[in-house]
Amino acid sequence: MQTGIRTLIPEQDIQRRVRELGEQISRDYAGQELVLVGVLKGCFLFMADLCRHIDLPLACDFLGVSSYGDRTSTSGVVRITSDLTRPVEGQHLLVVEDIVDTGLTMQYLLENLGSRKPRSIKICSLLEKPSRAVVKVPIDYLGFTIEDVFVVGYGLDFQGRFRNLRYLGVLGESGR
Ligand code: 5GP
Repeated sequence: MQTGIRTLIPEQDIQRRVRELGEQISRDYAGQELVLVGVLKGCFLFMADLCRHIDLPLACDFLGVSSYGDRTSTSGVVRITSDLTRPVEGQHLLVVEDIVDTGLTMQYLLENLGSRKPRSIKICSLLEKPSRAVVKVPIDYLGFTIEDVFVVGYGLDFQGRFRNLRYLGVLGESGR
């Protein structure tokens, strides 16, 4: 436990939900192959846990993205800082994201990946903040819906820190 951080979702709840999501994905895609497309960096713990609960033949690939502008004024202009390593034409893609906030990053990624002619694209997000949505993106597999708070831990950072926490927490006012 780190000082200045209030626990929002404890480790056991995250692990239980991630297992459920993996089992649901395994049932939905039974008999098919899947490519998990992780959105770096925030997805790395979620994707590592999720993929171990998916009982299917699958490949893991990653996209690095960064948004122009600061967090308070999301422009929706997203830059791909690191691209997929393989073509995805004809594949079933499942985009794995840490959090859908305004939805602008995911909207961009859906457009970008869609232009590569995959067989299907679905979204799996650990968290969603519906109160912040600017565009509505369809989340096929969702871990938790949360209020409009800034969360850290389990892959999510504040200024590069806190990604290693096993739980999801909210930074205290003094910590922001
Ligand atoms: P969107 O384009 O949906 O507004 O932003 C998505 C990205 O913003 C996420 O992938 C994440 O990097 C960042 N983000 C949004 N809300 C939070 C939050 O509460 N905590 C952290 N650490 N990052 C967030």
